[in-house]
Amino acid sequence: MSLQDRLIITKPMYFKESASECGYCHGKKKNPRNYFPLDSWYEKYKDGFDLDAPNRGTYNLGFQAELMTVEMYDTLCNLGFRRSGKFIYRHDMLRNCCRLFTIRTSPDQFQITKELRKTVKKFKKHITAVDAIEEPSSKNQKFDFIKEIISAEKASPDFKTVFEPAIFTQEKYDLFAKYQENVHNDFKHNPKSFKRFLCDGPFMPQVITGTAEEWKALNEWQDQDFNNSTKITRLGPTHECYYYKDKLIAMAVLDFLPSGVSSVYFIWDPDFKKWSLGKISAMREMAILSKLQRKYYYMGYYVEDCPKMNYKGAYGGELLDVCNGEYVSLDFLHRKQMISNGKLFVMDESETGTSSDSPLMRKLSAESENNFPSVNTKVKSKNIAENIYGVNGEAYDDIEQYISGLLNFDMPYLSEDEDAIYGVIKAGGDGMSALPNVSPGLLPLQELYFIVELEEITDLNGKLLILDTDDNEIRPMLNIYGESESSKRVICDLVRTLGLEITANTIVII
Ligand SMILES: [Zn+2]
Repeated sequence: MSLQDRLIITKPMYFKESASECGYCHGKKKNPRNYFPLDSWYEKYKDGFDLDAPNRGTYNLGFQAELMTVEMYDTLCNLGFRRSGKFIYRHDMLRNCCRLFTIRTSPDQFQITKELRKTVKKFKKHITAVDAIEEPSSKNQKFDFIKEIISAEKASPDFKTVFEPAIFTQEKYDLFAKYQENVHNDFKHNPKSFKRFLCDGPFMPQVITGTAEEWKALNEWQDQDFNNSTKITRLGPTHECYYYKDKLIAMAVLDFLPSGVSSVYFIWDPDFKKWSLGKISAMREMAILSKLQRKYYYMGYYVEDCPKMNYKGAYGGELLDVCNGEYVSLDFLHRKQMISNGKLFVMDESETGTSSDSPLMRKLSAESENNFPSVNTKVKSKNIAENIYGVNGEAYDDIEQYISGLLNFDMPYLSEDEDAIYGVIKAGGDGMSALPNVSPGLLPLQELYFIVELEEITDLNGKLLILDTDDNEIRPMLNIYGESESSKRVICDLVRTLGLEITANTIVII
């Protein structure tokens, strides 16, 4: 494997920020129950519930990525991660005050609503300055949003969009500033923060720049058809600039991935509020996806009890079960009321006998296939989040035994105060720490124990590379047992976060 195919990252860390930092509910949930991932936690903590309780903060785990391939980022997205510049993170579904589920959809899962149909018609009117463009002749005829958007844009003398590399320009920054100030009341931005958030990324320079042919094919997406030999091959971070009468009025920040398109951020000129460009952009991106012949439109995170985030459900789609690495349709979750009141769901896989293909569970010796998780269509009906992560859940059963087992193998894990599920970082304080012993989506300590006991962990010997910042050297990890206590913990935490297979292809900076 060449160096540029490696994942180069810092050690995984756990971050806590105080309650006021939750950018979703801002600590203003009407129902205190919704702060808790499960009813049993609510019952346990409700009496002592106060506004400053440590359970009200934002809890993330993540790492800084210095280099990764777009394919690797695709895999990480399907493990529940997102990126902000070079920072790769996901929320702790157990302790975070809001449940943030990875949501994705596809044009065939999207059933256009009356409201969105109106939005498309309004958009057509704005850009073409023509009142009524041909209505479907019969009521039964499907409203083809892809066709409608493309025909309107082609007919418009004033509206166009341009795809280009995700690089800084003053024009983009001015639009960003106007948007942040007017829409988010944020005055703390500067060109540096814009670059860090919307331009920087962990990808190779040639991925960021792309090729002239790549940009040409992408910019002609409206004319691509399935029989055409020109294929859109763009992969990587991309800015799509929306112009009206040569003025930049909006910009989509996108990641083009092998399995689809991921929406990173969307900014628009508040003077064009009536155009509902946010909604238009989601439908346009699905239209582009269908021309790209890629599958999924990743919309970031979905929060059931937050209007600012649950509007995404209007585009149909499915949520990631972070424990099983599989997606479950939002419709189903709503019908079964599995995520109401801000609750966590984990599907019972034993019921269907399917085994998960999550990269977290892959062994190094097994054939490695880069299968992106698909929807499990087999019938399942049981949410087992309470059985696993509830107050007396299986995740806590015998955990002391596995911690001492790991210690016997010289792997430094310590007990956590079981009563202080939210106290993983010194009570009340903000800051960084090592990963907690229990968190949905991390490989359970029980599994880690077996990986160590069966000596699968030694498969990493000679494969994992360590960049030691003390002596500024990259060296292979030759024998995990010869590593320092802190390095061993980092390696174990990497395995819990990314699985053995990805860890083996990593350069970790410690
Ligand atoms: Zn919140």
